[in-house]
Amino acid sequence: MPRTAPIKAVRGVRDILPEERALWRVAERAAARVAHRFGYREIQTPVIEHAELIERVGEDTDAVAKELYRFEDRGGRQLALRPEATAGVVRAYFEGGLNQGPQPARLYLIGPMFRYDRPQKGRYRQFFQFNVEAIGVGSPAVDVEVIELARTWLIEVGLDKLALELNTIGDDQCRPAYLELLRAYYRPLKDKLHPDCQRRLEVNPLRLLDCKVPQCQPFKSRAPKITDHLCEPCATAWAVVRKLLDAAGIDYHLNPYLVRGLDYYTRTVFEFYPAGASGQQDALASGGRYDGLAAAEGWPSTPGVGFAGGLDRVTELMASEGEEVVPEPAAEVIVLPDGDLVAEAAEIARVIRVVRSAAVDYEPRSLRAKMRAADKVYARWAVLFNADDAQRRVAQLRDMRTGEQSEVLWSALPELLA
Ligand code: AMP
Repeated sequence: MPRTAPIKAVRGVRDILPEERALWRVAERAAARVAHRFGYREIQTPVIEHAELIERVGEDTDAVAKELYRFEDRGGRQLALRPEATAGVVRAYFEGGLNQGPQPARLYLIGPMFRYDRPQKGRYRQFFQFNVEAIGVGSPAVDVEVIELARTWLIEVGLDKLALELNTIGDDQCRPAYLELLRAYYRPLKDKLHPDCQRRLEVNPLRLLDCKVPQCQPFKSRAPKITDHLCEPCATAWAVVRKLLDAAGIDYHLNPYLVRGLDYYTRTVFEFYPAGASGQQDALASGGRYDGLAAAEGWPSTPGVGFAGGLDRVTELMASEGEEVVPEPAAEVIVLPDGDLVAEAAEIARVIRVVRSAAVDYEPRSLRAKMRAADKVYARWAVLFNADDAQRRVAQLRDMRTGEQSEVLWSALPELLA
């Protein structure tokens, strides 16, 4: 037999092992709990979509195209693994008839997203997001609602030192004229810009504002700001968002350089960072309004607002902040047969499972070794028995914390352990 190397996980993806899942579960449960508390219902959409759904929307398709997991299926369809949830959720909103129901449709989704990014610490090719969308209502009150939802979630998982970055990027009424101003400002500076920014200048000038390259920084502060060039409705919405955040006692930092590269984004954009870390690392959650998305997908024009929280990032920070997760036993009760008593051990476990989680140690090893193993998996009780006990349908019930042990009937176990 030729020796082959063991087959490892695909580059850029990772396993989340049971020990880590305990912390992830805390974050996911808080997400679901908080979403429900705000009146949001869970939705699941497929991880595969037509590539066109993701590629059609937006102008700066470069970034999207470069990172997209795109493939042809056996039927010749051009498909993609979703890089984010919003496009699919908006599609489902129409296809599932949620547009006919009460508005807004308040939806949340927790699931994996895929981007063919350069793998590095904290950035994976499969990662997980908590995604929240309110579709069908343009009121800026809903912008603040999703901001408050994101913030409540982060606080509930213990990340209470937060910085909220806030901006507006106008809409298709006021943005085109602003972009012309921005181009006019940057054109004379073109030679001094980074090559990526030279290209952006004509195709997507808004992205000049969030460029992180040092050579482009000196020009930002004098660039025209969109907040000085909003149309009436956008200016009103922008004032309402800030007023409602103030009323809610939510601090924010106005950041004129916070933008989105795609055309369908409108008005409010926001990002949550750990306090003191804005811009230096990945956001914990980011979101905004996307009133142009439905139309870009070919549906009737419909407003929407939402955010995506990065579960990889959030759980990493929870762990580094020392979030205590009590180790969970794989099973509360471990059944330890002394000898070859497989059917009997399985029967005892079956009886116990009505009230408690139970597992059997089937390994052919000494009772002592089994006891040591039971300790390692944090079992709360052990049920020990040998062939004699089995004859009499009794076992020794041992409390693993106190070491107390007593003989009990199998039939009495559910009541004793309940
Ligand atoms: P975005 O969809 O890029 O606005 O990001 C929303 C959230 O997803 C942020 O909290 C990011 O930290 C997280 N995120 C985005 N891309 C990745 C990735 N490749 N790996 C891990 N988390 C990611």
